[in-house]
Amino acid sequence: MNGTWWMLMLCGAVVLLSASAEAQRTGAAARTKKHLLVVSHTAGFRHEGAIKSFDKVIAELADKSGQFTVEYCRTAEDVKQMMSPEGLKKYDGVIFSNTTGNIGIPDLQAFLNWVKSGKAVIGLHAAADTYHDEPAFIDMLGGEFLTHGAQCEVEVIVEDAKHPAMAHLAPRFRVFDEIYEFKNNDRAKLHVLGSMDKHPNDGHPQAGQPGDYLLIWCKPYGKGRVFYTGLGHREDVIESEWYKQHMLGGIRWALGIIRNPQPRIGQPATK
Ligand SMILES: [Zn+2]
Repeated sequence: MNGTWWMLMLCGAVVLLSASAEAQRTGAAARTKKHLLVVSHTAGFRHEGAIKSFDKVIAELADKSGQFTVEYCRTAEDVKQMMSPEGLKKYDGVIFSNTTGNIGIPDLQAFLNWVKSGKAVIGLHAAADTYHDEPAFIDMLGGEFLTHGAQCEVEVIVEDAKHPAMAHLAPRFRVFDEIYEFKNNDRAKLHVLGSMDKHPNDGHPQAGQPGDYLLIWCKPYGKGRVFYTGLGHREDVIESEWYKQHMLGGIRWALGIIRNPQPRIGQPATK
């Protein structure tokens, strides 16, 4: 064999070796990829535009991160099939994407037990306007929508700058969105990530008055993890880069792709 032949053999071997290393890497990534179900069925008010924005942005985050895949659950029939105890077996977590009302999960207690077994819940904005008639669901999510005023600009205080949903944000950042007030939203039961120290809603008799208003939090739920952000009404908010990163951090944390910080509850108010 001459030198050229040897060179060709060598190159071929190198190509084969790197192809198999690549296949192994891709295979490993495919095996460890998490599977998320994005639920956007509504039984009350429907955030049509925001739901479309979330569908698009979540697909983009799944693609770019390469760490999880998404499937969509959009209708009452989808909920019946995909959120049944059997249907849920395919998934590692659920995103409640501006869901409202009683969306018809076939066995709600089985769903909550599924979360407790170590699954992820990511609640976006109107997720807190879901299942008002089911205290166990509210308890899992950590807060229940009470009311909102006109859209307005608020200053949000970052309470845990180490959390992946918050690390890229200024210690006090401003955002213009529809801002919820909550009930059954006890700081002592949550790991608060973002709050406001003034009443957020223009036009309300208490507008601008000092207070403790929670907006973003996370919590353990059995072995599961719950992340909730009250932001996510306006399409321009959802599609902004900082919000995408906020949501991606929340998703990765809830799925356990990022383990730290460990969820801790009952912190005192920082104000
Ligand atoms: Zn809204």
